[in-house]
Amino acid sequence: MATCDNLVRRHVLNTSPETDCIFCHSQMEDLEHILFLCEKTGEIWNAFLRWIGKSSALHHNAKEHFLAFIGLGNKAETRFLTGLWISIVWSIWKERNNCIFKQGVWNKDKLVLEIKMKLWCWKMIFKLEAPVLDLQAWLSLEGILS
Ligand SMILES: [Zn+2]
Repeated sequence: MATCDNLVRRHVLNTSPETDCIFCHSQMEDLEHILFLCEKTGEIWNAFLRWIGKSSALHHNAKEHFLAFIGLGNKAETRFLTGLWISIVWSIWKERNNCIFKQGVWNKDKLVLEIKMKLWCWKMIFKLEAPVLDLQAWLSLEGILS
């Protein structure tokens, strides 16, 4: 992926404050940081751990992170958790692009809402086995899988 660390390594960008993580500005952006280690995107993962009613220390490596996340539920919940994981990662990446290229401003609550709405639609389209809730409960409850 075209993260800043990769672009610097390929001499497309020079190291500068603009190659730092767009969310926290604490270090150069790399994929593991922006998706899994950043304190800002960590707030998103924690919000969704509360939402599904699970707690876990998640891995930094993408594959291990994914496997640990989908392993939080039982076998029947695997497709739902897979959809949720994909939705979170995709939304963080889109928000990163929005902040870099369209001067978007980090808003955790807005991103959490967007992810829940996306998953609500995917639940219908892909027939994900998910708790039967009305939209209002889907958006507001915590612990939906517990
Ligand atoms: Zn960061």
